[in-house]
Amino acid sequence: MNGIVYPYGSSHLIDTQNDTIYLPNKIEKANFARLKDEIPATTLLQLSGGIDSAYVLWKWLKENPDKYCLVHHIVLINREKRHEKELEACDKILRWLDSQGLNNYFYIQNTFDYGNMTEVIWDVEICGFLAGVLLRADRWKNVDNILLTQYDRNTEREMSRRQILRTTARRNINFIYKLDTMTKQQVIEDMPKELFNICWYCRTPINGRKCGNCMTCKTVERANKKSIDDAYKNFLSGL
Ligand SMILES: [Zn+2]
Repeated sequence: MNGIVYPYGSSHLIDTQNDTIYLPNKIEKANFARLKDEIPATTLLQLSGGIDSAYVLWKWLKENPDKYCLVHHIVLINREKRHEKELEACDKILRWLDSQGLNNYFYIQNTFDYGNMTEVIWDVEICGFLAGVLLRADRWKNVDNILLTQYDRNTEREMSRRQILRTTARRNINFIYKLDTMTKQQVIEDMPKELFNICWYCRTPINGRKCGNCMTCKTVERANKKSIDDAYKNFLSGL
């Protein structure tokens, strides 16, 4: 931790003044965050700002009021240029969760920027690596579970994510795929409408708006339309 505390969830339990260390210039000091009463988080979730991770987080916080989740967002800067919209969505989602009394989590954020490197690996591999880095910290040593929000755990990219995460974390982690028995439509139908409306799902925004053409725009719009159509049919059949 570099001492930055974000105003979400249970961040009031983090004390940045407890520990300091001198930098190599022997003049300046850096602060380390530490929990005031050492409540350990047990579970990690990487929140992208999209529907799937927002849904899984909301459900877990609701179903596990006595446990703490470590919520991690990566500001992932690549040629698709959606990082600002995703960060904006995370801010809205976390504020909404707090407004619902669901504040049993700690929030960590960092940035990965491709710069002028060629993009040759999957985003989930970057997520796996950074999750591993996060879990190496002594402070998160009780985090044994990671909630994953992919619908299929048996893809090459998921296997790669798990391998990278285990190697970096240097310990065994339980990978829990919460959506592997669900469809996108079921997720949309099961989540509060308010939450759905503040998520960001477009991969390639144009001037800050959803493009309507990318794979995730089409998948979400199709599932949402089917959900509305089904609800309307059910309503008519009940008349
Ligand atoms: Zn799009």
